[in-house]
This record gives sequence, structure tokens and C-alpha cells, in this order.
Amino acid sequence: MKNGIHPEYKEATVTCACGNTFKTGSVKEDLKVEICSECHPFFTGRQKFTDTGGRIDKFNKKYKR
Ligand SMILES: [Zn+2]
Repeated sequence: MKNGIHPEYKEATVTCACGNTFKTGSVKEDLKVEICSECHPFFTGRQKFTDTGGRIDKFNKKYKR
């Protein structure tokens, strides 16, 4: 028997830096992300947010093909 070893799994509200929010399953109630599928140029093909301190540039390099 393995009772009580699982953390409580609930619906979390993820808030992105672009203002987009979406739901996901998590043990935490609220999450904050800097980029999401809604604002990531890889998915959208455009940038609609401000690049702060080259953070996005670094991100793009990391995922460059
Ligand atoms: Zn976003």
C-alpha cells in the first residue's frame, strides 16, 4: 500500500509575462512563466513583447536549429 505519498495535484493558473494565462496541472496553484506558446516567436512567428536585456535573444539561440 502506498498511501499519502502523492502531492495534491490540482489545476494551476499559469501567468505568462506577455499577459496570457492558461491552465495546467500542477502541485502549485499559481505559476509564472516568461514565455509561452502564445508569445513564443517559434510558435507565433512574430514578437509582440519587449525584449528585456537580451533574454529573448538568449532563448532564441538556445533553441536555434
Ligand atoms: Zn506568453
